[in-house]
Order: sequence, then structure tokens, then C-alpha cells
Amino acid sequence: THFGEQTVALEDKQGLVNKVFHDVADRYDLMNDLMSGGIHRIWKDAMVADLAPPKTGSRPYKVLDMAGGTGDVAERIINASVGYAEVVVSDINSDMLRVGAERAKAWRFPAQASFVEANAEELPFPDNSFDAYTIAFGIRNVPRIQQALGEAHRVLKRGGRILVLEFSQVDVPGLDSLYNAFSDRVIPPMGKMVTGDGQPYQYLVESIRKFPSPPIFSGMLAEAGFKRVKHTPYTGNIAALFSGWKI
Ligand code: SAM
Repeated sequence: THFGEQTVALEDKQGLVNKVFHDVADRYDLMNDLMSGGIHRIWKDAMVADLAPPKTGSRPYKVLDMAGGTGDVAERIINASVGYAEVVVSDINSDMLRVGAERAKAWRFPAQASFVEANAEELPFPDNSFDAYTIAFGIRNVPRIQQALGEAHRVLKRGGRILVLEFSQVDVPGLDSLYNAFSDRVIPPMGKMVTGDGQPYQYLVESIRKFPSPPIFSGMLAEAGFKRVKHTPYTGNIAALFSGWKI
């Protein structure tokens, strides 16, 4: 099998993605820190600052953190709300959720999170049930992105907000060639060193390259029904935050 999406049918893509995250679940957090030099933490902090979850209110503030993996975005949201937000961490991969649920026991507000196995393309939640939907470095792994965005729109309440954090396309001359060299020559070998297999990381690099450009992805959010769609580049557009509202 080849991990590149061009040679992989849509139906098989999910199987490959699941294998990648099954294999790395226990070392996922370590790999994130190593491969991004810790920068993913700053991007996630910025995402949560943009969300600005309330610290108090007359009714619960419910967040769905989709493809939430080991729960680090959920932890940030709950801490930013000083224990007010209720976050459902949802992921298709039970191994990632298991690591997350274990880690959550040591959080400041462990009772504010729950962990639910689900496919972003077909959510087991009722219409209009969340105040916010967040997805960090997850949407590019989902085979049917447009369908997942439609589901996000469905489960959000009116006045609810979607925030998508994803790798993007570097647009700073000089940084782009550096970033490409890093992607090809550092990421797969580093993955092999830590997990024993470099191929999943080759997949990672390719999936980043194939993700739609910011204008196209913004169009997909609009297509799903989101209004006031906004794109904010992070670190020379290595990553980007997309925001939209269900009005
Ligand atoms: N949000 C976490 C973070 O930022 O560190 C985890 C991101 S990790 C790169 C991508 C996650 O997407 C994995 O945990 C994977 O299992 C999940 N995923 C892949 N396909 C999915 C799908 N169809 N539905 C839900 N989650 C999915």
C-alpha cells in the first residue's frame, strides 16, 4: 500500500488514517512537541484565545472538540473558561481517546470533559446542541471534508461558532523552501526514530500538501452554511485558523 492520497481511494483513506493514529497514540503528544518544536502549543493557545469561552453564564457552554485526539485543545478550552465550559472530546480512534481520558484525570477540571468515539462525517449528536465546534489538525484526515463541515453546522446552535486549525501553505518566500526541506528530510526520519516507522509520517507530509488552499477551504465553510468566514494565518501560514458562524 502507498500512503499518498492520490493512489488511495476515499474508502481506504480512513483505514490508513486509523492505522497511523492507532500506531502513534501512546507517543502522539511527544511526537507533536518534537516535530513542531512545541509551536503547536502556541497555535492551540491562539485558537482558544480567539474562541474566548465564557467563564460564567445562565446556561451551560457546550463545545464539541472533534478529532480531539488526546484532548489537549479541550483542556485549554476548559482552563480558559475556569471550569465553566463542558467539552465533548470526540475522535474516530479509540486509542487516541484512551490516552486522552487517562491524561484528563490529572487536569484541573477533569469532570468538564467527556470522551465519545465518533466519525466526523456522521455525528451521533442532535441538531443545534453545541455552542462551539473546534477541530485542530483533524479535518485534513477526514475523507469527506464537505460532509464533515455539514455535520458541524447541523450540531451547532444558532449563534454557534466553528473554529478549524489546520496546517496550511507557507506563503513567505524563503520560509517555504525551508519548510519543504524540513517536511521531506526531517519529519519522516524523525517519525521512524521515535515510532519505528517512517511511512505514516510520509502520509502526514503528503496530506498537508494536499489540503485545500485557504480561499478554497473558506469556500467549503461557506458551502456548509457558515457565515462571516475568516482566515487567520499563523507563523507565515504554516498553520491557519478558520472561523465561521451559524447564524
Ligand atoms: N486535535 C488533536 C491535536 O490537535 O493534537 C489531534 C489531531 S490528530 C493530528 C488527528 C486526529 O483526527 C486523530 O486523533 C484521528 O484519529 C482523528 N480522525 C481522523 N479521521 C477522523 C474522522 N473521520 N472522524 C473523527 N476523527 C478523525
